[in-house]
Amino acid sequence: MQLISGTQIASQVLEECQREIAELAARGLKPGLAVILVGDDPASRAYVRSKDKKCKDLGLHSVKVELPATTTQDELLAQVRRFNADPAIHGILVQSPPPKHIDEAVIVRAIDPMKDVDGFHPVNVAKLALEDPTGFVPCTPLGCQRLLIAAGIETDGANVVVVGRSMIVGKPMALLMMAKGKGANATVTVAHSRTRDLVGVCQRADIIIAAIGRPEFIKAQHVREGAVVIDVGINRVDAPGTEKGYKLVGDVAFDEVAPKCRAITPVPGGVGPMTIAMLMSNTIKACRQLG
Ligand code: NDP
Repeated sequence: MQLISGTQIASQVLEECQREIAELAARGLKPGLAVILVGDDPASRAYVRSKDKKCKDLGLHSVKVELPATTTQDELLAQVRRFNADPAIHGILVQSPPPKHIDEAVIVRAIDPMKDVDGFHPVNVAKLALEDPTGFVPCTPLGCQRLLIAAGIETDGANVVVVGRSMIVGKPMALLMMAKGKGANATVTVAHSRTRDLVGVCQRADIIIAAIGRPEFIKAQHVREGAVVIDVGINRVDAPGTEKGYKLVGDVAFDEVAPKCRAITPVPGGVGPMTIAMLMSNTIKACRQLG
């Protein structure tokens, strides 16, 4: 069984990013990322902090804006428009989820698609479907594809089952896998909560990509001998007696599934570190394209 280390592969991606940053610097360009956080959700705060730190470690220009939970939609839109107009900023993201009074779809549509490094703007969703290489692909599925390529997993002609159909993970993942090209060309099935006989569907998979949001949902019975499993899930579960009182587990019951697999990603240390590395990579791409 091969354990696919996202930590290791992410550091290779970040090394590539460093080379590209040096090339851009030689042309007088420095990629800039603006991250906007509204409210004080602790998990969102932690994500924003780590994105800001990763940018600074790499030598990117990073702007972090923390707005109170009472910020109105118009105030947030005004902030987005300021970054759209700022030539030092190439990537903009608004940390999800915003407070309930803010319509996330409106905010996403206000971001300049050329700066939409999360890849959630309808223009970028369309570009993914059209296989237009100038588009931005959401960081998590892009990271999963990169993991498969780096781990030497053949996707060409493979049966890939994506469990989950969200716009952040499942749907773009399926589009990436069915596209033409390297790390793609797969025969894709998308499963969700209404799928009949999920076990049977998963058992036909050469590669299972689990993005469900339910701790340890995929069991040994879902996985055929020799399959590859990519676990996107990040779930907090109680762990009494530990310092934090909780631990992180994936959407896959690792201990029972791993022995059946040809390759599998761990949680933590699998897809998680790839997501932030691909965000850096998308920001550099935005800078290159905007010039
Ligand atoms: P969503 O809740 O948006 O989507 C979950 C999907 O799983 C839905 O399509 C849902 O189906 C499906 N689902 C739920 N229950 C079942 C079931 N019993 N059987 C089959 N399918 C089911 O979650 P996200 O896509 O945003 O996230 C998925 C997971 O990935 C979460 O654990 C999240 O924390 C993690 N994540 C990790 C990231 C990383 O960086 N590693 C980044 C983003 C997410 P339906 O559509 O029918 O409701």
